Amino acid sequence: MKYEKTQNFIGGKFVASTTDRFLDVISPLDGNLLSTVPMSVSKDLDDAVVAAKAAFAGWSKTPIKERVQVFFRYKTLLEKNLVELAKLCSEENGKTYSESVAEIEKSIELTEFATSLPQLVTGEVLEVSRGVECRTEHVALGVVASIVPFNFPSMVPNWTLPNAIALGNCMIMKPSEKVPLSCGRLAELLKEAGLPDGVFNIVHGDVAIVEAICDHPAIEAVSFVGSTKVAKIVYQRATSNYKRCLALGGAKNHLMVLPDAIPAMTAQNVAASMSGCAGQRCMAASAMIGVGNVDSIIDKICEEARKIVPGENLGAVINKESQDRIERYITEAEKDGAKILVDGRNTKVAGKEGGTYVGPTVIDYVKPGMSVATEEIFGPVISIMRTNTVDEALAIENANPYGNAASVFTQNGAMARYIIEKASAGMIGVNVGVPVPREPFSFGGWNESKFGVGDITGKSSIEFWTKLKKSTTKWNAEAGVNWMS
Ligand code: NAD
Repeated sequence: MKYEKTQNFIGGKFVASTTDRFLDVISPLDGNLLSTVPMSVSKDLDDAVVAAKAAFAGWSKTPIKERVQVFFRYKTLLEKNLVELAKLCSEENGKTYSESVAEIEKSIELTEFATSLPQLVTGEVLEVSRGVECRTEHVALGVVASIVPFNFPSMVPNWTLPNAIALGNCMIMKPSEKVPLSCGRLAELLKEAGLPDGVFNIVHGDVAIVEAICDHPAIEAVSFVGSTKVAKIVYQRATSNYKRCLALGGAKNHLMVLPDAIPAMTAQNVAASMSGCAGQRCMAASAMIGVGNVDSIIDKICEEARKIVPGENLGAVINKESQDRIERYITEAEKDGAKILVDGRNTKVAGKEGGTYVGPTVIDYVKPGMSVATEEIFGPVISIMRTNTVDEALAIENANPYGNAASVFTQNGAMARYIIEKASAGMIGVNVGVPVPREPFSFGGWNESKFGVGDITGKSSIEFWTKLKKSTTKWNAEAGVNWMS
């Protein structure tokens, strides 16, 4: 085992869980055992809540300008430790080193945003009648929880923790049991940055601990990022316990290619979008709709896909179960009459035979009803459908239950504008394959890609992580005699 046993982080210290159930943490790159992770029990969560509640009294009363000083230092520490953090992220998740570097850089950008919160979180004040003032201020909620998926071990925790904590909350993070290691390093860096003990805590586990979080009476708000199936469960359970909840789910992002698209640029973007992070991004292009004759662009996409080498510029998928599921989708599409132009099945990387790799896969002549057209594959696979008109393409996109992202490749501004208006997704790209909004713009999909109000990052997150206090005051001379007015 390469690393020590993973432990919970409670009250500023790594502590052993009281559980007797542990899972192995396996590197998807080569199948090697990295660590073990405890499947914590509700007693562990109770301990974390006690620590967080105790810390909340002091942390929430610390002025925000002081609170964000921790995040200036945390940002510097992320920069200083970037190489080590990126290596760890690749080892546990399977993505390439350069993808992990980009992930840590995005974590740094998210932290930069948190340091700007004092500028954004000011309340409002107005003299509403003579001598009477109304004022609003954003107040921290208390103990909050963040439940995260496997595909971004550093970035998705950093979607929530800097903003929630800078706004005065104390957090319990539940990492994915598949990639629990990066989060522990983030906790160490936060401590080194001067975050008081108990403000950030980690409780590892699976279903049972997520349920315990949703049920815990002292947790005020739950944010979740993961599959739609689990997002629905978490949203229902947390809100039925009267908690605030924002639950981001899965995706099936459509990319529309029009005949006037610039061929080389489009092909590079499509190939990069579908294969980056081995297709395990909720913003990955998963379905492409060619409108009219785009055969020459499809040829170029295949050329680009063939340049992608598993184990070099393509990482591994998370585990064997995932590899088998992705390959099943490809085989099913083939059986249903689709044409596999580039086939990533049965991929092995020399010297890393224990790794779980799927090569880039391009499937053409997919029909809208096939499973590769409608379901989230979460692998480096693009399913190409063809239509004669933009409206037919939009009808396919609109019919999909998800709504994270959609993109169009065209040189026609009016057509691009029309697609921005008609596509049913929260994040739209024009000549952009992965349309993730950069800070300070917020991240969040529509439909079955997100449950709850607002977005998880950017300015929108201020509303989620705080409650508004409204005060009305009167200190004029009349107040002494006419206090009821
Ligand atoms: P997942 O839903 O399996 O797991 C997410 C979290 O929920 C993990 O911490 C896991 O331990 C927990 N969990 C799993 N099953 C549970 C259950 N039955 N009850 C309660 N908790 C449970 O997701 P994943 O496989 O880790 O991540 C991939 C998914 O996340 C994809 O669907 C992807 O699209 C989605 N994702 C979405 C976004 C977004 O912004 N919308 C971002 C990243 C990932």
